[in-house]
Amino acid sequence: MDKQRDFVLRTIEERGVKFVRLWFTDVAGTLKSVAIAPAEVEGAFAEGLGFDGSAIEGLARTYEADMLAQPDPSTFQILPWRGEINPTARIFCDILTPDGQPAAADPRHVLRRALAKASDLGFSFYIHPEIEFYLLKSSEIGPEGPIPVDKAGYFDNVPGGTAHDFRRRAVSMLEQLGISVEFSHHEGGPGQNEIDLRYADALTMADNIMTFRTVIKEVAIEQGVYATFMPKPFTEHPGSGMHTHMSLFEGDTNAFYDASGQYHLSKVGRHFIAGLLRHAPEITAVTNQYVNSYKRLWGGGEAPSFVCWGHNNRSALIRVPLYKPDKGQSSRVEYRAIDSAANPYLAYALLLAAGLKGIENEYELPAETEDNVWDLTDSERRALGIQPLPQSLDHAIRLLEESELAAETLGEQVFSYVLANKQAEWSAYRSQVTPFELKQNFETL
Ligand code: GLU
Ligand code: MG
Repeated sequence: MDKQRDFVLRTIEERGVKFVRLWFTDVAGTLKSVAIAPAEVEGAFAEGLGFDGSAIEGLARTYEADMLAQPDPSTFQILPWRGEINPTARIFCDILTPDGQPAAADPRHVLRRALAKASDLGFSFYIHPEIEFYLLKSSEIGPEGPIPVDKAGYFDNVPGGTAHDFRRRAVSMLEQLGISVEFSHHEGGPGQNEIDLRYADALTMADNIMTFRTVIKEVAIEQGVYATFMPKPFTEHPGSGMHTHMSLFEGDTNAFYDASGQYHLSKVGRHFIAGLLRHAPEITAVTNQYVNSYKRLWGGGEAPSFVCWGHNNRSALIRVPLYKPDKGQSSRVEYRAIDSAANPYLAYALLLAAGLKGIENEYELPAETEDNVWDLTDSERRALGIQPLPQSLDHAIRLLEESELAAETLGEQVFSYVLANKQAEWSAYRSQVTPFELKQNFETL
């Protein structure tokens, strides 16, 4: 018997776990859950649990609807918000076809495949996300829009504030789930918060992000507030990004580190950034997957709108953060476009694939941008060769459609599902008459 499986079965027994939730994520990025009795877990490990996948976004075509969910024992955790009495646990699953092959449309499999490619090149991929979200008084939308829990700003210490209690409770719950938190603080917008997770390998981190979203929603319910990961809930306040720090390791060595390189960045690191820069526009429909995502990217508030990199440049798409000279292991690159509503499995698979393309093809890293790119004129940016990111979901979909990198990395089924799903969102949006138009035009026309 596999040691990890054995450990899970023993823990279920010893802790008196009454329900085990099998979790997986659909192509759209929504967490799915089915609860099974503890007695079923052993069978689910051995053969997978059969379910009808046809109703799940992007997972199965109707003619191949039968799917198996096979729990990954390394992800077993007891859910702290369900309490100590008759505890409930969760395990993330891999999705298999009835003949036991990985399902082409399982986002976890898409990421596993990208990681296997990195591993063939000798790399493992690590991730550290800074996850931003808004805390609101409730899910009601007032006449002025959603109502934040406070009026505080960046790093503010809010006396007696809801945000403090919220972060404290959320962080301790995350730790109980085995997810280490590095920082948490109030962000720039009223009611906006950020929690940064300690780095982990990309698959673990994608699972952690799905868990994180659930924890934040649960703690909000517990505390009588509402949490949203919507990329841009307010016109006048910053959006919620998920800046992601990435590094590649070769064994125990950080492959981005070179003591003699500019910013201590190795050749591998430079090629990786060059890959991200070259492929950023075509993968943006996945890293920023909603109509609303583009309100963030083009709405200021320190979200990137242009494709460039810099050392300490917060207007750049990619930043090489401050390093401590004696800490080569922490060399990394920060990708600032991705938002808090992305499907992390698909987005990280594409970011990795873009970076690896840069390494494999030895893409040349363009010069860094020291200026604040928002302050330059269009022609100044053109002269510097700085391209914009897509300006709308429609624009992003058109670039995705042409992307060989995305088709290859996502696989045919996920690629065509994402395109169809996003095209449907865009056409539903395109026909909306918005409050903006009514305000601008109704009385004057
Ligand atoms: N909220 C900003 C964004 O949407 C980022 C603020 C910051 O952490 O620099 O990307
Ligand atoms: Mg932030």
